[in-house]
Amino acid sequence: MNPPHDALVSFPVGCCECGWETSVQSPLEPARCGRCGTPMALRPRHRPDPELFRRSPRSLWDYAPMLPARNPDGAITLGEGATPLVSAPRLARRAGLAELRVKNESVNPTGSFKDRQVSVGVTCAREAGFDTAAVVSSGNVAVAAAAYCARAEMRAVLFMHAHAGTGKIAQAAACGARVFRVESDSPDQVFGLCREACKKFGWAHLSTAGIYAPACVEGARTIAYELWQQYGGDLPDWIVAPVGGGGLMGGIWRGLTDLQQAGLISRLPRLAGVQAAGCAPLTRALAEGWTPLEALSRPWPNPKTIAGGIADDILFDAHTVLPALRQTNGMAISVPDPEIRDAACLLAREEGLLAEPTAAVLFAALPYLPRTDTTRVCCVLTGHGLKDLPFFAHLTHPLETIPPRFAALEKALS
Ligand SMILES: [Zn+2]
Repeated sequence: MNPPHDALVSFPVGCCECGWETSVQSPLEPARCGRCGTPMALRPRHRPDPELFRRSPRSLWDYAPMLPARNPDGAITLGEGATPLVSAPRLARRAGLAELRVKNESVNPTGSFKDRQVSVGVTCAREAGFDTAAVVSSGNVAVAAAAYCARAEMRAVLFMHAHAGTGKIAQAAACGARVFRVESDSPDQVFGLCREACKKFGWAHLSTAGIYAPACVEGARTIAYELWQQYGGDLPDWIVAPVGGGGLMGGIWRGLTDLQQAGLISRLPRLAGVQAAGCAPLTRALAEGWTPLEALSRPWPNPKTIAGGIADDILFDAHTVLPALRQTNGMAISVPDPEIRDAACLLAREEGLLAEPTAAVLFAALPYLPRTDTTRVCCVLTGHGLKDLPFFAHLTHPLETIPPRFAALEKALS
């Protein structure tokens, strides 16, 4: 019997280190470079078409030709992407910047940018016939996987880190996922368990780590496309994003190169990856001049930070995030927890934006960014503060309780 037509579709992959190219049959299968052994990244199946990027998107699936799905009409979607770009003038003044804008990814359906990644991953998994998907997560990927698997009528099995917040666990469990909290401080060990389970049980591995599931980091490309559209083609000097495994920054960079190939930009913005000082493998890898393979073999010892969403001991997407920063003359910034805490409060107080600590790292990093009074910066706010309300609750003043009398209010205000 002939295979169905779409089974003949192959997906180009390339090595960002040496440029070697080949193709794979499944966008969920990891591939290593035949020349230098570095993990390879997916490349779009179609040449970037300038007209595709000129239209205002309604969701990331308007960029379907750049995504690895075989049949985008069957995409598993909750309306992810097409997020707003919000100006932050008070923080800009405070940081000495000409302009600061926030790409507000926290308004995605489950409250984080991971919806872009997981929508693509679950779509690919369902196309491949999987009925169960498993992920490793500190929270946001788990929540997204639970929601998109529910939408796809698939089962979700979630391996959550020991530090995962109860709010995110509840959010995932509400969508019917099977949730396990794994007792280990090392995300790498949790990945080992998830990979073994996927192999033995025939589940799709949809963790957003390009080294294990290349399709699951492709959705981040579309952030670059949207920014180009929202900035009217005049991209800022810096794009700043949090880095855990590195898939977000690696995806934004590859999206920018798509725009360049389409002839829409001549220079790429500089990219700054932000980590917490208590888990900063990117900063270390850049400082030491490590290759992606060297970075992958050297986990950060004892990750410890309030920014749990980026407490990855390994740069699982070292193969894209390292070239992203090196080729854009970018930089890594690591910020201590007290500065992250202050930045989260400042962002809420001055701009009305509530960011979880993992996203608030960006605003703590602004003072470390090279800048002049003409510098324009875009921060990719990755996750909503509503996911971590206990973090804010203990920062607020004790709640004042008053009787329903004007005199009591007057006295309290005085
Ligand atoms: Zn290579």
